[in-house]
Amino acid sequence: MSRDIYAYRCRLCGHLHYPYRMVCRNCGENAHNEFDPEPLPKSGTLLTFTELYALPAEYEVPKLGLGIVELENGIRITGQLRIDEPRMGMKVRGEVEVVRSEAYEDFHGMVFFEA
Ligand SMILES: [Zn+2]
Repeated sequence: MSRDIYAYRCRLCGHLHYPYRMVCRNCGENAHNEFDPEPLPKSGTLLTFTELYALPAEYEVPKLGLGIVELENGIRITGQLRIDEPRMGMKVRGEVEVVRSEAYEDFHGMVFFEA
C-alpha cells in the first residue's frame, strides 16, 4: 500500500506549508485554519545527511541514516535513508514507511532510497 505525507496549502494566498501550521507563514492570515491538504512529492535531492549510532533501544538497527531532502516542489523534509553510500546532491525517491515502533503504535515517516 502506498501512503502519502501531506503538506497544507493556504486557501488565501496559496503558500504551501510542511509541517502543518495554524497560521500562514506567508500572509499571516488564516485564523480559521483554511488549508487544503496536498500530498508531498516523493522525489528529490539529498542536501545533507548524517549517520546515527547511539540510538534509543526501540530502533532495532545498528545505525540509522538521516537526511534532509529537497523535494520537487522545494519543500525540505527530514527522512531516514536506506542508502549504502549516500552523497550530497544525489537524486532520491521516498516511500512512506514505519520508521519507529512502540508497543502499541507504529509511527510513519518518509524513508529515502537511491533514485
Ligand atoms: Zn496564506
